[in-house]
Amino acid sequence: MVVIINDGCISCGLCCDLCPDEFEFGPEGTAVPIHDPVPEDLEACSEEAAESCPVSVIEIQLES
Ligand code: SF4
Repeated sequence: MVVIINDGCISCGLCCDLCPDEFEFGPEGTAVPIHDPVPEDLEACSEEAAESCPVSVIEIQLES
């Protein structure tokens, strides 16, 4: 699983709260993924963050 954060993050911090080991704020002040690919034990909270993002900019890509 790979997490992509598309343009439009409003820096609300929700993903960092829900899944602090996978999301952090980058130098531009917007959220960035920490691991690529996402470690298995962080997949569930990454999905939760994607579903909870108020502007729906977190994209989950499943590896084929
Ligand atoms: S939940 Fe969405 S808007 Fe909020 S910091 Fe994360 S990516 Fe940005």
